[in-house]
Amino acid sequence: MDNVIIIRYSEIHLKGKNRAFFENILKRNIINKLVGIECRTEFFYGRYVICDYSQEHERVILNKLRQVFGIFSLSVAKRTTTAIDSIAEAAKSICPKNGTFRVTVNRADKTLPYTSVQLSAEIGGRLLEYNSDLEVDLHAPKSVVYIDVRDGNTAYVYSESVSGAGGMPIGSAGRGLTLLSGGIDSPVSTYMMAKRGLKLTALHFWSYPYTSLEARQKVLDLAKVLSDFTGKTEVIVVPFTKVQEAIHAHAESNYMITLVRRAMMRIAEKIAEAKGCQCIINGEDLGQVASQTMESIIVTNSVVKHTPVFRPLIGFDKIDIIDMAKKIGTYEISIQPFEDCCTVFLPDSPVTKPTIRRAEANEAKIVNYEDLIEEAVNNAEIFVIPEK
Ligand code: ATP
Ligand code: MG
Repeated sequence: MDNVIIIRYSEIHLKGKNRAFFENILKRNIINKLVGIECRTEFFYGRYVICDYSQEHERVILNKLRQVFGIFSLSVAKRTTTAIDSIAEAAKSICPKNGTFRVTVNRADKTLPYTSVQLSAEIGGRLLEYNSDLEVDLHAPKSVVYIDVRDGNTAYVYSESVSGAGGMPIGSAGRGLTLLSGGIDSPVSTYMMAKRGLKLTALHFWSYPYTSLEARQKVLDLAKVLSDFTGKTEVIVVPFTKVQEAIHAHAESNYMITLVRRAMMRIAEKIAEAKGCQCIINGEDLGQVASQTMESIIVTNSVVKHTPVFRPLIGFDKIDIIDMAKKIGTYEISIQPFEDCCTVFLPDSPVTKPTIRRAEANEAKIVNYEDLIEEAVNNAEIFVIPEK
């Protein structure tokens, strides 16, 4: 009898013919996540099993696996042969100390000399003999002892499951470029799209010295927390100072934010193309601030030529975004008070209903605007956050 961790995966079972594609990516992600911990990953239909690990690593492995998208739930189990005595020993070792229980058997190996009903009755009986504080309740038990009897003379016995991160395996949905500011929202939008299987590259606009070294470090710290879920991640930092100064010098002040947003999107699309990212993601949320009214989003979006822009937070209330930020561990970093470039040269009254025509007229006033955009793209710095 040895200890193993059973991994059940989420929506992959819906994938029909593409199932192997998703399974292989999940398998690779699990193996990458456990690099450095001595253990083995086995596969049997519809499940993965981690085995041959030292007991002291069990918690660490479980916690790491809970950060892998595509995993629905996990159980620590005893693995035994299919002999009734071995299964009974395993069941005794995990059965509750008292209260009501039930035994539930799933028997994949139909060649065995017992039926599911016979096995559950037999094991239930032996548990009652073993511990007189237990009582059977088939309908609403406090605990369930699960026995999963598989081919190859193997049975898994367990009583609890913990939930996994859900979603789809990272890399199974393509690549995206996520606009990561130091705020509360964009780490959450990043998390949400990673959860749907996108492999992400992060992009940050940095206006040094208006925004500090600490502001850049904050974004790298956020990316590091997110890398628990996203895996190894590149953070591209674009020097944005000259673009912002030029906009400030030439454009109407109430169009400052609109033009800054449009410049960000132009740069983002160029970088997405260069990096093979198929979409752009940001943390915009309808109506949250002046730059996120319907009109502002239309005017910003109109500079993007070929790339879909995903806004996973568009319909969320701020309070729900904050809850999610707390849950994924980014909130405490996001509320550190370092200025982001959007607050540099902030006008007193930003336009809430900008028009494309007026935005373009303002951009036309900026000398060498295209060159400034190109220069920002070319001078981007890349930081690599490793897999943890
Ligand atoms: P956040 O909490 O993400 O900063 P916010 O409510 O402060 O969001 P804005 O500052 O208006 O919103 O930004 C909207 C979105 O634009 C952000 O969620 C982010 O995706 C992107 N963005 C804003 N500033 C930057 C930046 N300096 N670098 C990269 N992306 C940015
Ligand atoms: Mg912000």
